[in-house]
Amino acid sequence: MDILYAPWREAYFSKSECECVFCAIAKDAILDTQNKVIYRNENLFIVMNKFPYTPGHILIIPNIHTDSPEKLPKDIWLEMFAKAQDSMQILYDYGASGINMGMNIKAVGGAGIPLHLHLHLLPRWSGDTNFLTSIANTRSYGIDFDKVYERMCELAKIYLK
Ligand SMILES: [Zn+2]
Repeated sequence: MDILYAPWREAYFSKSECECVFCAIAKDAILDTQNKVIYRNENLFIVMNKFPYTPGHILIIPNIHTDSPEKLPKDIWLEMFAKAQDSMQILYDYGASGINMGMNIKAVGGAGIPLHLHLHLLPRWSGDTNFLTSIANTRSYGIDFDKVYERMCELAKIYLK
């Protein structure tokens, strides 16, 4: 048997099979502050959306890489919604007057990261949809993202056990 020496191929083999951004966050708790994770346990994590529709927009994400709810173990699916229920108080304490909660499933369903399921929770304020958003598909975001993160972490310690 001939052996083909091809060291350049090592990069393909040693590279993680999954390059999903949510899997990367799930696996790397050391980077939680950098990634703006406000809570994690053995099954899921809650992270600030890096492209928030409103300040305080969070995502509840299972550690398991899957693109549709029926593929998740039922207990993890239920835990996601239990954490969503607990997270309501975080958003109300943050000042929200209302909340949008939802999930876009697969690319055709509108998911920004279609291969890894995530549940959106968006705090809403009266009048938060302004003229700029309506005409230019642009949102003005005048709040320091790090300060929002600090406050969300404080509230997560209170409401997420
Ligand atoms: Zn993933």
